[in-house]
Amino acid sequence: MAKILFPLSALLKVLKVRHRTLTHSLLFMLALLLLTLPLPPLYFLVFMAAYASHPLIDLLNVNGVQLFWPLPWKIRLLPKYLAVDTGSAGETAFQWMLVGVGLWIPFSNITF
Ligand SMILES: [Zn+2]
Repeated sequence: MAKILFPLSALLKVLKVRHRTLTHSLLFMLALLLLTLPLPPLYFLVFMAAYASHPLIDLLNVNGVQLFWPLPWKIRLLPKYLAVDTGSAGETAFQWMLVGVGLWIPFSNITF
């Protein structure tokens, strides 16, 4: 995402905002929720689901997420021995599972 959103990621780097801190916090997601609330419902839901999925997935990472930023607590959903490390085979397997789900959803009978 940093490559796609380069101006934003460059700004965060200049401001010394580290990964899995401010942008992954519940406070930031609440601010995004309030900013995007005027969007049409489908766009709002898709944007919020897409954005929230990233911190949610990062909660499976061994390093955890500062979900309650600015408090320093790092939250992780899995015990360290089960957590998915960046660049690991587990991460690759998880990515392929998400690709599979992403390809399956358009062909399923799920309606919104
Ligand atoms: Zn992240």
